[in-house]
Amino acid sequence: MAELEALEFGKSDFVLLDEVNMEQFMENLKLRFEMGRIYTFIGEVVVSVNPYREMDIYGKEAISAYRGRELYENPPHLYAVADAAYKAMKRRAKDTCIVISGESGAGKTEASKYIMQYIAAITNPSQREEVESVKNVLLKSNCVLEAFGNAKTNRNDNSSRFGKYMDINFSFSGDPTGGHINNYLLEKVRTFCFTTGSENPPQTLLESYHLQGDPAVYAYTKEGAGSSVSNKHSPQHIHRNTFTATRSPQHGNIQFGTEEEIVQVEGDGEVVSHIAELTSTQPQQVEKALLFRTVATGGGDVIEKGHSEQEACFGREAFSKALYERLFGWIVGRINSVIEVKDYNPMLHGKNTVIGVLDIYGFEIFDNNSFEQFCINYCNEKLQQLFIELILRQEQEEYEREGVAWQHIEYFNNQIIVDLVEQNHKGILSMLDEACLSGGRVTDTVCLDSMSSRLAQHPHYTDRKLTPADKTMEFQKHFRIRHYAGDVTYSVEGFLDKNKDLLFQDFKRLMFNSTNPVLKDMWPDGGLSITEVTKRPQTAASLFKNSIVALVDKLSCKEPYYVRCVKPNEMKSPVLFDAARCQHQVAYLGLLENVRVRRAGFAYRQGYSRFLLRYKMTCEYTWPNHLMATDREAVEAIVTQHGFQDDVAYGHTKLFVRSPRSLFSLEQERAAL
Ligand code: ATP
Ligand code: MG
Repeated sequence: MAELEALEFGKSDFVLLDEVNMEQFMENLKLRFEMGRIYTFIGEVVVSVNPYREMDIYGKEAISAYRGRELYENPPHLYAVADAAYKAMKRRAKDTCIVISGESGAGKTEASKYIMQYIAAITNPSQREEVESVKNVLLKSNCVLEAFGNAKTNRNDNSSRFGKYMDINFSFSGDPTGGHINNYLLEKVRTFCFTTGSENPPQTLLESYHLQGDPAVYAYTKEGAGSSVSNKHSPQHIHRNTFTATRSPQHGNIQFGTEEEIVQVEGDGEVVSHIAELTSTQPQQVEKALLFRTVATGGGDVIEKGHSEQEACFGREAFSKALYERLFGWIVGRINSVIEVKDYNPMLHGKNTVIGVLDIYGFEIFDNNSFEQFCINYCNEKLQQLFIELILRQEQEEYEREGVAWQHIEYFNNQIIVDLVEQNHKGILSMLDEACLSGGRVTDTVCLDSMSSRLAQHPHYTDRKLTPADKTMEFQKHFRIRHYAGDVTYSVEGFLDKNKDLLFQDFKRLMFNSTNPVLKDMWPDGGLSITEVTKRPQTAASLFKNSIVALVDKLSCKEPYYVRCVKPNEMKSPVLFDAARCQHQVAYLGLLENVRVRRAGFAYRQGYSRFLLRYKMTCEYTWPNHLMATDREAVEAIVTQHGFQDDVAYGHTKLFVRSPRSLFSLEQERAAL
């Protein structure tokens, strides 16, 4: 059992710490990392530290050790959580979800893959073909999404640049029947400032896209030219480079010039015709979309208005980003249509249950934080809110159901920060939207001024001018939010443009008129005329907010399991434990509070019959079989004999143990027999 490792490898559950404080927590985390114990429990939560090396703890044998076992019968592992989620789903017909969080490079995506593999391995024992094929698509969809949505960053060689939530549907017999993927906040910006690998796709392929092998030739790829990508994920990287080709880095090579006050595309038109060829459109149409926009005048007339050079550049970039985003969305849609549950009749097949797996970026604090960090951190505030709500609610409900008295725990409720961001009219998102919709006059700084005056009294919002050190010009464009995970200073520069996320309707129409049916399919809104286009287009922030609210709704009706990933160092080293960096993560993942909540209640609980099965040999009254009227009385006999009757509560069906120490002593005795 897990606790038996305690002496040598540190405490396998943080609730076993002598005292709950940061120092002890960190000491234990470090010791376990150094001992190659990358997983540690906090009750049912798994804390994972990225080992940055291959571990011999996955695969068939390990899977069978965890299969169908109780959480604490084995050392902490992702498999234990996956199994717990699966059991709850299968035995109690509960929808469950596994929320994986942590910063970039902490190991979320790897964890989600191990979890998926575990679920795939323990289901469909009879190898039914249709179930196998569903499993296959579910597992392999990952590769496709990674090929198009991952990138090498300086924090992670294979960084997911999108958040992902995947529902796996199960039949009554516990086999996967299908699934659904939602993606969140795809990072589009890297279409025009990204790094590329040193491996090159085949020359013939490049030629078919009118591309040269040298990324330095293209405005969108030259920055990353010469950087190398590790070969570990080679197939994906090749996909990625293939994709680099498909998304036309040529767009960036379109330059604009002004002659006699008329903006034109520079050069001999070769780049424009390449783009037309690749998108199955007409060169004249491409050029027109790049240089003009159609506008509806107040009087209802429709006119063509020439772009300024700056507008033309803005349009070009928005178009590249949108092409990438639509393509990614289209791929997700295609995968979904393949894995969608079809022909499932609950009357015939029983209740369809779900396990959701969420792999989403954790809290981000950089030197320079912009709109993207603001959205990501808002998302994390929402998830934290859910965590509080679900974990505490779940505990409370269980105690009530079992008739056990429960003591209330004080914790920081971050609702106030969630409100600061999302409240209608009064929240930052609303203010941003207001600024965006009020026409072109409002600049980032004007918007910030208005925000700062309206939020001056808010305890979690700091106006940039408050501290003397911030009075430099540099800080005139910043505001600070006191997040549950720490203070983050955001630079407001670019907020409004990113929020407007404006793409001229002319580009949409251009793509809608493409003779390539797939491209056309990605741009259904291109069919709208300018007068039909809504006057109040949805902003990036409100779209994101809606998707996060929908996500939280989805999660909140499920029984949650958590994996908290920690990144041990910035060097991708398997031996380095950067204590300061780790402590920072432990703080913003709220792990100490988590231990406290867990300790204030009952750390462990187990059904009476299962408890007997495991420990009856440690007591003369219960071995080999007890003669008492109920299992509960037999369990009482064991508890009393071992002297921890003050540490437990008896529920209707379960024994609740406050301190894991009691179980630990039982385990030791059991092992000694
Ligand atoms: P991002 O938010 O950037 O997508 P992430 O949290 O998803 O980051 P991963 O891509 O899962 O991070 O992990 C980063 C790298 O760390 C992996 O490519 C792998 O090299 C290593 N790694 C993570 N988890 C493990 C593990 N359990 N065993 C071995 N190596 C691992
Ligand atoms: Mg990832």
